[in-house]
Amino acid sequence: MTDRTDNIIVAGRSGAGKQPRIDVLVKELGLTQLSTGNIFREFVGAFDSSGFKDDIGVFFDPVKGAFVPDRVIEAALRKALPGTKEMRPVVLGLKAKYFMNRGLFVPDSITNELFCEYFSRGSYRGQVLDGYPRTPEQAFFLLDLCRKQGTRLDLVVEVENDDELIVERTMGRRICKACGKVYHVKFKPSKDGKSCDKCGSPLIQRSDDTEERIRTRLREYYDKVVPALELLRENGVPMVKVPGNVEPFTEENVRRSVMDALAPYLK
Ligand code: AMP
Repeated sequence: MTDRTDNIIVAGRSGAGKQPRIDVLVKELGLTQLSTGNIFREFVGAFDSSGFKDDIGVFFDPVKGAFVPDRVIEAALRKALPGTKEMRPVVLGLKAKYFMNRGLFVPDSITNELFCEYFSRGSYRGQVLDGYPRTPEQAFFLLDLCRKQGTRLDLVVEVENDDELIVERTMGRRICKACGKVYHVKFKPSKDGKSCDKCGSPLIQRSDDTEERIRTRLREYYDKVVPALELLRENGVPMVKVPGNVEPFTEENVRRSVMDALAPYLK
């Protein structure tokens, strides 16, 4: 990174400990977090609050491996939810939920379109890309987008951790329903174990944080994310590894481990 930082990608298996490292980059380098997982959760929230209760699996054609056309989904939703004004977020939420609930990645076409929309809002720079790109197709799309927009991918920070530890950490993860702050029942409990220290809202467990889904996500990481990172490396994006576990786990120790790894790239 030379005179300024354009964008940093933070990669790592779901549950490896990306968020505390992202917090450091946001604070120390003044970047903004762009998380595709959070974007999808927002749309799933729009779908959940629409009140649609029927089986969403009927909209997915397993033979074609694709959803039925949007107009078919919209017609069914309109019939069930006559009061709904804006259908796009509900349809997107329905599709994202279908995959997330199975621990699978959302298809590239949906992910790239949404990512591009949010990336453009920040003028394609000054962002920490969290959880994107996650497939070689997404990596190609991102490299091409940055080339066209004249922005850089300065660095990939890969948060490393052990798979079994990830399973333990993820199953114990609790998230504030309102502000998104992340806790852990054993390693980082909130003061009363039930509500957020920051805003007082209830803590919840993500519905995709079950052991089976965590293991599916780990497989998705090896099959798709590892080749995506390789592609970025081949295209000249430097990569550093940071530990997802620091002992003792304090803000200062996390900050130091991240900034030490970044030091050779910062001027
Ligand atoms: P995360 O919060 O990053 O673990 O993401 C939660 C879920 O959102 C993932 O398990 C995927 O189903 C979906 N997701 C997030 N980012 C992507 C992406 N770049 N490509 C495909 N699916 C994604």
